[in-house]
Order: sequence, then structure tokens, then C-alpha cells
Amino acid sequence: MSANGLYRARLLWFDREPDGAEDTEAFHYIEDGAIAVAGGKIVWSGDWADLPAEYSSDDCEDFRPHLIVPGFIDCHIHFPQGQVVASYAGSLLEWLNTYTFVEEQKYGDPDFAEAMAGRFLDMLLAHGTTTAVAYGSVHKCSADALLGAAVSKGMRIIAGKVMMDRNAPEALTDTPQTGYDDTKALIAEWHGKDRVEVAISPRFALTSTEAQMEMAGTLVREHPECLVQTHLSENHREIETVAELFPWSKDYTDVYDHYGLMGPKTLFGHCIHQTPREMERMAESRSVAVFCPTSNMFLGSGLFDLSKMRGTAPETRHAIATDIGGGTNWSMLRTLDEGYKVLNLQGQRYHPLRSFYQATLGNARAIGMDDRIGKLEAGYEADFIVLDKTSTPAMALRAETISTLSEELFLMQTLGDDRAIAATIVSGVTAHRR
Ligand SMILES: [Zn+2]
Repeated sequence: MSANGLYRARLLWFDREPDGAEDTEAFHYIEDGAIAVAGGKIVWSGDWADLPAEYSSDDCEDFRPHLIVPGFIDCHIHFPQGQVVASYAGSLLEWLNTYTFVEEQKYGDPDFAEAMAGRFLDMLLAHGTTTAVAYGSVHKCSADALLGAAVSKGMRIIAGKVMMDRNAPEALTDTPQTGYDDTKALIAEWHGKDRVEVAISPRFALTSTEAQMEMAGTLVREHPECLVQTHLSENHREIETVAELFPWSKDYTDVYDHYGLMGPKTLFGHCIHQTPREMERMAESRSVAVFCPTSNMFLGSGLFDLSKMRGTAPETRHAIATDIGGGTNWSMLRTLDEGYKVLNLQGQRYHPLRSFYQATLGNARAIGMDDRIGKLEAGYEADFIVLDKTSTPAMALRAETISTLSEELFLMQTLGDDRAIAATIVSGVTAHRR
């Protein structure tokens, strides 16, 4: 395997969010395209007929008639929850206490964490996800294992150890000081190493004392280069408990605001039940609301309201994610499908071109990496996937009647899963082949 290569297929990528199929200025679609890669980066892309002689090669990977798009980006996923998916629970707090807080204790064993890290990243690659923003367990060794494995695979992964010092089993708690120290050590060791970064990760207000929230705020001030990830306004019982724990707060969002945790680098998972006041702060602070549709449906948390996000001034930034293991599928295609249904239940339409924009460049923008990933353009990192619209008998049957790009995308998001990923290329290396 080499990080140099030449690929031929249909190509699709976005410059901005499209209004719909007629908004052709928002995206590039090339019927017979070429991508040339060198040193892990795209050095040329365009019409096959225009391929400069210097990039032509006898070694071309010809993926026609399939479609190449930038690798999917998952903005919210839990590394220690690959074996929690499909746990029978009614709602968030029952699910956490019965399964998740038990399972995550295993990740205190560095050997176990290391063994699972490789499998976790392979699972992402098999589902066409080339970048993820991930939570570890409370143990520093879980984040070490994941970031180390990502460096070995050349993947762009952002991860942190969660900070939690109350309302969890003893074996899963840190202290304000150890949470701070461990996060500092992770940043020193990993942040900016090859393609990995560290995210400051207070799990959520419910599992942190005021002292720990203060420490999280200190980390954010000391490390403005780091993304911040946490959960916000997912479930009514969670919201009531946070109000009891922080009685002085105006609302749940105000808790994070008070400790300096809001801002353009902060990813808030869920954001389902926020009030207009909270939405105003989301918009003003340029914080990102992360839509996790399969998780929200599975745990009965509620319906993410995209029109609420678009209704603020400026528009509230948002992303889309699997939230494995509250989420029920690793596939961003399955996630887009469930997202479509969640919005449709509220009378909101979500055009397939918008869906594919969001899972690629849109999510890259949400994490501030749209200058490196999310496009198939010269200078971008060579992370892309090959999509096959005929990957199952049902898809092949339906595909016979398809005549437009929008129809093809909608078919893939509605019926597709990991079987639709014919290949995944990471840093110019074929990391997965179906
Ligand atoms: Zn989550």
C-alpha cells in the first residue's frame, strides 16, 4: 500500500450547503472524474479527460460506476460503547446506570482499551467514517489507546477522557484535579500529533461537581486550540436533575455558560429541549448543536428541531452524529435516514443533497476543519469513500428506476448501510475494502 494513487469514479463534493438540486453552484458533480493523491493529500481532482500527464498512472483504481464522496465525519461517538449498542433500556438515565456505567469500567484496563481501539476504528472505516470526535471513558488510558491507534492508522480522530466526579460508580469517577491533570497530559502528548487532537470532555453537568466544572473551564481557557464536547438537554429527567444540582442556574445551558464552556469550539450533543433563551445563547456563542437521531429515537429522548436552529440569528451551528452506543447504528447513512424521519415528523424536509453536505463538509465546518477535510479538492487530506447504490438486492431493484443524483443519494441514505461502502481511503491508503 502506498499513499500515492490515482482513482477514477463519479465524484461529488460540496462548497457550501445546497438549497436543493437546482443549487448547482453549491456542489461539484463530475460524471467521469479522477482524483490523484500523493503523500496522503489530494494533489489533483477533476474530469478524467483533463487529467494532467504528470498524474496519469497505469495503476489507476477504477471504481466506475460507483460514486466517490469525502469520508463521513461523525461528530459525537463514544469509544467505550461499541458493546453497549442495542442494550434494552427505557430512557437515558436507566440506560447509563444499567449498562453504560458498568461497561465503561472495563476501559480502565489499558490492554483491553488497546484491543478495543483498533476494532473501534476498523468499525468506523467499514462504515465509511474517516473522522470522528469521540468520548473515551473516565480513564486516561482509554483516550491514549484510541489516539495511539488513530496515529497508527493515519486517521483524523479527536478524542478525550471524560471528566466525571459524581453520580457515577466509584470506579468511574475522577476528581477535579485528576480530571484536569489527565486532560493536560493527553493534550501534551497527543494534541496535533500526526492527525489526532484532544477534546476537553466533561461528560455532562449531571456527573460533575461545581469544582470540576470550574476545572473544565480552566482547561478551556488554557487550551483554546482544543474542541470541547459534552451533552446538553437530552432528556427531561436529566434537565430536572441538573436544575437541582445547580439551583442558581437560569437553565441547563446556563450551567455550561457560567463555567466558560460555550463557544465556537464546543460541541453540545442533543440540544432537544432548549428554551428560546437557551437557543439565543447557543447562537450568540457560535456553539454547535449535535443532532443524534438514532440515539434520540432509541432512548425516547425527543425530536431535534432543525427549524429552531435555523430560526435564531445568526443561525445556530449544527452537526449530525451517530452517538454510538445510545445511537443504534455506526453508519452515517443510517443516521441520515433517521435524521430525515425525525425532521419529517415535525413537518421539516431535509433534501438528500443537504444530508450528504452535512455528513461531509458541514460536519467538517462544525469542528473547524473544513480547510483540511470534507472536500475532494487539491490540498485536502485524501480521505474519501466509494459508495455503491446497488449493494443489496433491494437497493439494486430500486436503483433500476433512478435517473438523478438526488434520487441516488436518497436511495443510499434510505436503504444503505456499511454494505454500500465499497472502499474507504484514509490519508491516501485503502483502509477498508468491502
Ligand atoms: Zn453521547
